[in-house]
Amino acid sequence: MGDGPGGYEGALVARQLGATVTLVSSGEIGGSAVLTDCVPSKTLIATAEAIDEAAASGYLGVQINGHPADTADFSVDLATVNKRVMELARAQSTGILASLTQAGVEIINGRGTLAEDDAVTITNGTAQTTIPADTILIATGARPRLLPEAMPDGERIFTWEQVYDLTELPRHLIVVGSGVTGAEFASAFHSLGSEVTLVSSRDQVLPGEDSDAARVLEEVFERRGLHVKARTRALSATREGDTVTVTLNDGTAIEGTHVLMAVGSLPNTEDLGLEQARVATDERGFITVDRVSRTSARHIYAAGDCTGVNMLASVAAMQGRIAMYHALGDAVSPLDASAVSSTIFTEPEIATVGLQQHDLEEGEFRGEHIMLPLRTNARAKMHGHRDGFVKLFARKGSRIVAGGVIVAPNASELIHSITLAVDNRLTVDQLAQAFTVYPSLSGSVAEAARRMHTTQ
Ligand SMILES: Cc1cc2nc3c(=O)[nH]c(=O)nc-3n(C[C@H](O)[C@H](O)[C@H](O)COP(=O)(O)OP(=O)(O)OC[C@H]3O[C@@H](n4cnc5c(N)ncnc54)[C@H](O)[C@@H]3O)c2cc1C
Repeated sequence: MGDGPGGYEGALVARQLGATVTLVSSGEIGGSAVLTDCVPSKTLIATAEAIDEAAASGYLGVQINGHPADTADFSVDLATVNKRVMELARAQSTGILASLTQAGVEIINGRGTLAEDDAVTITNGTAQTTIPADTILIATGARPRLLPEAMPDGERIFTWEQVYDLTELPRHLIVVGSGVTGAEFASAFHSLGSEVTLVSSRDQVLPGEDSDAARVLEEVFERRGLHVKARTRALSATREGDTVTVTLNDGTAIEGTHVLMAVGSLPNTEDLGLEQARVATDERGFITVDRVSRTSARHIYAAGDCTGVNMLASVAAMQGRIAMYHALGDAVSPLDASAVSSTIFTEPEIATVGLQQHDLEEGEFRGEHIMLPLRTNARAKMHGHRDGFVKLFARKGSRIVAGGVIVAPNASELIHSITLAVDNRLTVDQLAQAFTVYPSLSGSVAEAARRMHTTQ
């Protein structure tokens, strides 16, 4: 049940292992990951990055019409950008549909609900059909949380799912929520040319993330003129004509032209028949699963955002695959949440893997860390990259790499070497001894590891 990465990756593995598979799809294959969240947002951000790079090239001596590139007036036609974004998302969806069909997965459109624990009822309009099943995988995803006093109209007040309907760049965008989604869109729209105000209820943007990384991002935001309104909660968002007003709990209000609400997600787990099938959920409605994606009911598995476990497309896909390996008796490695890598696609990117600073400070593991500023790296200097760092965590005694943080351009790519070290329990010395190219940003990963060498 569910056609996002949790569902379709699970379906492909189940077919590979010889099962008869029916996928219940709510419409277009790919789920939120492909059609509204992950794929479209990263495609939009690709345009924002192109502008950032072009503008930064002025520092490297690039001129446009005889003037330094950073003084040029870059602009985008958002309608064209969004058209490309959605074409790409639909093409991804079509590609996944082709893979599923080729693999022999039967796809039925409609909304699935559990009929006890050994059948699924699919409703599409007035049509209803019930299919028996030995194994059921629930991968129904999540949706944006809405505030009753800030309901989206899809034009001036919108959720991240509605961004791609915009045909004109917001003149002044107010982003409510400074988590990953809020920070990514604030960064991207500012690069695209909007004035942006980010409303953050916490002391620092990106609550829960590495605080040194959050500090770098705040400094970059401030330097670029992106306003952060910290320690304030948005109470309401209202629209009058072309003006929107966000009222804050400190008694002030901000006026803009558009509001993006990014205040978290809710699991799509209501009315699925979970209780009757004895599938347990937590107090927020997320389905409780173990590390092989089993729910509390026999033969029923769950994967992805509906479980609330690291809400990432990569994790949803892995949970879906693991569920089917387990259900169909194949070799299976349980999900290791401590080896999950993820990236916040701001400018600069922030990538993390494994154990983090708060784990160290809260005594989750005994170890130490090192932080190497990016500005000491020769390649970074050549490109004019000043912001960012590489941080490594190692376990005391064994010197095994426990985790890391990279704040840098393309941190999403650079983090992989640390992920390999965490996953394979490499020591800092092993990480340091592998060759890196000179000059390269990845040289800073090896250098950080080298500095953690001890002689005892
Ligand atoms: C703005 C944004 C950007 C993101 N960027 C990234 C990123 O860069 N990298 C990353 O790894 N993750 C990213 N994520 C997270 C990622 O999108 C999710 O973790 C991923 O979509 C989860 O996949 P899923 O299969 O659990 O659910 P979804 O992708 O949400 O798919 C679930 C599908 O099931 C359907 N469905 C719901 N109920 C039923 C039912 N009863 N019967 C049948 N079908 C049903 C839904 O309509 C949906 O189509 C981002 C999220 C957001 C909000």
